[in-house]
Amino acid sequence: MVHRPLRLTLDSDALVSNWHWLAHKGGGAACGAAVKANAYGLGAREVVKRLQDAGCRDFFVSTWAEAEALEPWPGDLALSVLHGVGPDDMAVAATRIARPVLNSPEQVARWRETGRPCDVMVDTGINRLGVSPGDVAAGLLDGLRIETLMSHLASGEEDSDTNEMQRKAFREVAAGVKAKRLSLSNSAGVCLGTRFAFDLTRPGLALYGGIPRPEAAPHIRQVARVEAQIIQRRRIVAGDRVGYGGTFVADRAHELATLNIGYADGYLRGFANTGRARTGDGFAPVTGRVSMDLTTICVDAAPELREGDWVEIDYDLPEAAAQSGLSQYELLTTLGARFARRWA
Ligand SMILES: *Cc1c(COP(=O)(O)O)cnc(C)c1O
Repeated sequence: MVHRPLRLTLDSDALVSNWHWLAHKGGGAACGAAVKANAYGLGAREVVKRLQDAGCRDFFVSTWAEAEALEPWPGDLALSVLHGVGPDDMAVAATRIARPVLNSPEQVARWRETGRPCDVMVDTGINRLGVSPGDVAAGLLDGLRIETLMSHLASGEEDSDTNEMQRKAFREVAAGVKAKRLSLSNSAGVCLGTRFAFDLTRPGLALYGGIPRPEAAPHIRQVARVEAQIIQRRRIVAGDRVGYGGTFVADRAHELATLNIGYADGYLRGFANTGRARTGDGFAPVTGRVSMDLTTICVDAAPELREGDWVEIDYDLPEAAAQSGLSQYELLTTLGARFARRWA
């Protein structure tokens, strides 16, 4: 097999531990898992298998193509397609185990004729996807076989009044709807307390090591570790410039190592002169810009490192988000296709 000079190590124990913490935090609610966008870039099939073994029974993807990629889908697990069922989805959707999360009067009309079960999203303030509370009150959902009625928080990551407003609005809508279960919370919502959990929670980010709110920080473990191999080591002297545009100028002699990772691997240019790799007990800062396939770090404090050695990029999500200006979501979902991926 051809060698790949960068690797992503995925920690099964951390994933399962994060799910257990989120399940516990949701009180009596069932804890599902958002596995859209290929489980935020980590690998949906592998994630589903591990969470299924842990006891998770409810999964969420965005599109029918994502649902299809997970076939054959186990009959004892629920799979919901968050974007619902558009005009071009019907032929496939009507024959699959997965059920749509209906988001608009058009989708409701389309699905009603099938007589099949569905979920429904009601928009309580994010103004993105979902049927309106007014339409629900006017009878839009009458006669549908609704498994889960859900809504989605706009500002769960913040201490915003809108969280409580959305919770109340959701409770009011739900009082007039026949649905087997109610669901409001993503990862951040789970951290807001059991009042927000209802019957089923839908975390994504925190499963994969993201910290949606400070409450989660002591409990959520890093899942994805990014490592790259050193291709070349060099010494520079005072006045030398590093990388495109010469944005790092040496004030004295430095030892550099050039790593086999770049923005095409999802290590984006936001890490220029701010990212870092881990070396022993310390850190080696990124020097200069990140290139498409290469990143240079300063290894003054790690004289032992040689060509061919592996270094771990600091990919602790809150830390890396602060370094790069990217969201924790972006940090996960942009990880590229060139990594050797290994579940440990
Ligand atoms: C993506 C998504 C989630 C998961 O959100 P996280 O913030 O990653 O926990 C839950 N519900 C809906 C409707 C989503 O689109």
